[in-house]
Amino acid sequence: MSLRAQLATGGTVLAARLALEHGIACNAAGGSHHARRAQGAGFCTFNDVAVASLALLAEGAAENVLIVDLDVHQGDGTADILKDEPHAFTFSMHGERNYPVRKIASDLDIALPDGTGDDAYLERLAPVLPQLSGQRHWDIVFYNAGVDVHAEDRLGRLALSDGGLSAREDMVIGHFRKQGVPLCGVTAAAIRPTCRRWPRATPSCSRWRRDMRNSRAFHRFTETANRPISLFLSSSGRNPLTLFLELLYPSYFL
Ligand SMILES: [Zn+2]
Repeated sequence: MSLRAQLATGGTVLAARLALEHGIACNAAGGSHHARRAQGAGFCTFNDVAVASLALLAEGAAENVLIVDLDVHQGDGTADILKDEPHAFTFSMHGERNYPVRKIASDLDIALPDGTGDDAYLERLAPVLPQLSGQRHWDIVFYNAGVDVHAEDRLGRLALSDGGLSAREDMVIGHFRKQGVPLCGVTAAAIRPTCRRWPRATPSCSRWRRDMRNSRAFHRFTETANRPISLFLSSSGRNPLTLFLELLYPSYFL
């Protein structure tokens, strides 16, 4: 059993609880959205967001959970695991011709053509957020902020710029923050081997840094690890996953 997969899953459960407590939190190692109920798939062992969603629902910590998955790959595993869960709603916006070939229907899917740039991408996303918020009261939103929509991702196909990625994060985080919905981010760092931009995906991280710096969750992380969270968000040479795990489990690395 992969220790990394276990820690990444536990990290998202922890981040979800921190988000409920402080308004926003992020697990840079989460986002293993291809893992299904019966088996792992597509570099994903456990589906951390589905596990965290079901854990919060089982505990009664949340009654309604929303998943907004903007990774370039469709969230087939999350759709598979949560398809019979009426208190969880799955939304995926992804590249139509990208992995997985056989997609599993989310509650709402938007498939985008190759070469979708900033303007078309943001125009497609903008009306969906208020639509989702209008459906019911969400106790928490899990946001899969995959950066593989970026033009520098060799397999991504969607061609977003730094500015487009940054605008996306502002749009999504800003929308749910304004609504007062706790937001748990996952940035799919562990399944980003094709994106040369990671770990310096600074446009998508800048918004995280700004909001988390203002939340007590940031201080909690900082106190736990005795180092700033921006260290792993803007790391230049080191594996962001390792840095994240050091932040969450410092004693393990001592
Ligand atoms: Zn992806």
